Amino acid sequence: MLTNSHRHHLFTASLLMAFLGTFSTAHAKRASQDSGSATTVVIDAGHGGHDRGGIPGQRVAEKDMTLDVAQRLKRVLAASGYRVVMTRDSDVFVSLGGRVAIANSYPNALFVCIHFNSANRMGAGGIETYFYSRDSLPLASAIHYFVAGGAPSSNRGVRRRGYYVLRKTNIPAVLVECGFLTNPTEAAYAQTTSYRQKLAEEIAAGVRGRNSVTSALTTTRVATGENIPLQPYIDQTKVAKSERHRSKRSHKKSTRKKSSSKPAGSETKAASKDQEG
Ligand SMILES: [Zn+2]
Repeated sequence: MLTNSHRHHLFTASLLMAFLGTFSTAHAKRASQDSGSATTVVIDAGHGGHDRGGIPGQRVAEKDMTLDVAQRLKRVLAASGYRVVMTRDSDVFVSLGGRVAIANSYPNALFVCIHFNSANRMGAGGIETYFYSRDSLPLASAIHYFVAGGAPSSNRGVRRRGYYVLRKTNIPAVLVECGFLTNPTEAAYAQTTSYRQKLAEEIAAGVRGRNSVTSALTTTRVATGENIPLQPYIDQTKVAKSERHRSKRSHKKSTRKKSSSKPAGSETKAASKDQEG
C-alpha cells in the first residue's frame, strides 16, 4: 500500500521524468537567429567562495548551481561561435565591483548573470529575469521567454531593478533567477544535470534570439513562431513600497487563516534577500 508520502514522491518523480523527457525535443524548432558570430558574452555565475548565496540554512548551495549552469552556458555559447568570458570559473569569491569591471572591459559584449532564488516560504517558486537599462530589455525579454517557457516553474515575469551588477555595467546586462532552491520541487530539478543543461540551452537561445524581440501583444511562447514577444515587466522601483506593505498585511491575514494561499507578491521581501544576486 502506498502511503501519502510515497504517493507524493512517485507523483513528483513522474512529473520530473515527463518533464525531462519532453524537454530535449523542442529545440530544433526554434530557429537560432545569431547575428554576430564574434559577439562576446560575459557570463557571471552568482556568488562563490565564502558567499554561498541564498538564505541561511539553505540546503542546496546557490553558488554551486550558478557555477554549473554558467559553465554549461559557456560550452553551449562557445559551440555557437560566441566568445565567452567568465567572471568566475571555479568556487572563488569575486566582488561585485570585480564582476562589473570584467564586464565593462568588453565594450560590445553582453552580460548574463546566473542566479537561483530563495525565500522563507517553501512554496515560493518561479522564474524571474531582471534588467536595468532600456538597452537590456530585449536581451532580458528573450532570455526570459526561453527560460520561463521551458521551465516547469511559474513565470514571475521580467522585472526592472537596480541591482549593482545591472546598474554599473555599460553593456546590455541581464540577471536571470533560474528558480527557487528553497522550493522542494524546483530544488529537485536544479539538482539534475539534465535540467541545468536545459537551463543553459534556454539562456543561450535567448542570447541568440535577442534581436528577434517584438512588441507583439501576445505573451505566450508558441504563438508567434520566429518572433519573441516583448515580455511584460514589473517596474519594482515603483511598486516595491506597496508590495512591502501588502506583504505585511498578507502575513497577518495568513496567521488568522492558515489555509488560504497568499498573494503572489508576498515573498517579495524574502526573495529580494538575493540582493545583488
Ligand atoms: Zn543569487
